[in-house]
Amino acid sequence: MKQHLWISGKFKETENYKALKSPYSGDVIAEVAMAAPSDVKSAIDAAEQSRKIMADMPAHKRAEILENVVAILKEEKEECAKIIALEASKPIKAARGEVDRTIMTYKFAAQEARRLYGETIPMDAAPGGEGRVSYTVREPLGIIGAITPFNFPMNLVAHKVGPAIAAGNTVVLKPASQTPMSAYKIADIFDRAGLPAGVLNVVTGSGGTVGDVLVADGRISMITFTGSPAVGRQIREHAGLKRVTLELGSNSAVVVDENADVEKIVPRITAGAFAFQGQVCISVQRIYVHESLYQTFAERFVEEAKKLKIGDPLNEDTDISAMISRSDTERAETWIKSAIESGAELALGGNATDNTLYPTVLLNVDKSEKISCEEAFAPVVHINSFSSFEEALALVNDSEFGLQAGVFTNDVNKAFKAAKELHVGGVMVNDFPTFRVDHMPYGGVKMSGMGREGIKYAVEEMTEMKLISFKID
Ligand code: NAP
Repeated sequence: MKQHLWISGKFKETENYKALKSPYSGDVIAEVAMAAPSDVKSAIDAAEQSRKIMADMPAHKRAEILENVVAILKEEKEECAKIIALEASKPIKAARGEVDRTIMTYKFAAQEARRLYGETIPMDAAPGGEGRVSYTVREPLGIIGAITPFNFPMNLVAHKVGPAIAAGNTVVLKPASQTPMSAYKIADIFDRAGLPAGVLNVVTGSGGTVGDVLVADGRISMITFTGSPAVGRQIREHAGLKRVTLELGSNSAVVVDENADVEKIVPRITAGAFAFQGQVCISVQRIYVHESLYQTFAERFVEEAKKLKIGDPLNEDTDISAMISRSDTERAETWIKSAIESGAELALGGNATDNTLYPTVLLNVDKSEKISCEEAFAPVVHINSFSSFEEALALVNDSEFGLQAGVFTNDVNKAFKAAKELHVGGVMVNDFPTFRVDHMPYGGVKMSGMGREGIKYAVEEMTEMKLISFKID
């Protein structure tokens, strides 16, 4: 099957196509279009031509289109889950979970389309401001350039396309090269849902080629990017005066305090460490356990991790499947080996077959090891002990990243201390850092990014505030 580009409501052929292979089996899924710079320009032309249609479209109509998307997604949930499972090697149970979340994301987008409020400004609060009626409105920015990663190929597209359409913008979407089919499926669903041609355009191809054109083109008002810190930084440096939001990586940590209920929390933290092979931006990577519980916690954690079923992403009982690429598997293996060489204890896993890295648990890893201080993005976690709560908070903060952190404690004073002192975008008290629902404000500090998603917050980022002031004679 040949997958062409989606521009101006039509499939567009291009010169070059590349085989998309399943990371698990190596089977070819499709031949996918590799856009040339001129194709990206055509997509931007289409988005430019449909700007006025979107800017003039009433809120109830934008909401209705998004509601139609929700209805079609519900009908076609199983087909969508299979696309994700095939191209990303996401275990089918998790892929279904992603489609459920995508449905919620578009539901919230439909609601937010009806809630673009402004406010009245009491101009007479300042001398000279008397005799005026003044208010603000939020207007769409124009064209949004959306660049998405492979790990949530449907829901992270929804976090960009949903609020962009809710706010009345048009979009050029560049999905990750390994997961283009989920994005083309969404474009097809929007088409059937009644979105005018040219409002949503999908261009696949090399990140550098497509990304450079999007970032450089003056007609694009905003780049919304989710992906690695290295690419995020490059985009920020070249974006000039464009608005930019960056949702980047992390090495998320969780603190298990002395009074925590180990039996209760171990299954939850295990899920947070290994869901989708640890390829989740808020995956649990560092676990800090109070020394009084350390031994018990580590043993229970390894027992729980041993229960995970490894195999074909399309099998109903698979928990862990292939990582996204061989090179990512090898990178993780090298980092594990280095940690062991510098004194860490391997409690489980550490080896791989083809692209499948077995769930790996390391104990007492030095904080300077890459598997601790860089983003692992693999089914690898380490457990270290601490003696004081202050020390645990300092360990969490001793990172270049800051997306979310989790703290399990029954001491309300310590909980508030953690809430105040942890330098991250979100603190989850008595939960893992991997917790996310799609309307909450979500984003990072430090190298984890800038700006917030969560539909309401993304809509704010994707609109411009305008002040209107009437002078009454
Ligand atoms: P990636 O390699 O940075 O790729 C992300 C997207 O950027 C892809 O579409 C990629 O295209 C494109 N790209 C590559 N080079 C580019 C360039 N020079 N200019 C513009 N775009 C370019 O990331 P990934 O491996 O797909 O995803 C994993 C990363 O995403 C992790 O770091 C993870 O933590 C992060 N992430 C963050 C969040 C969050 O909300 N904070 C959520 C999910 C994932 P190609 O695929 O064609 O290279």
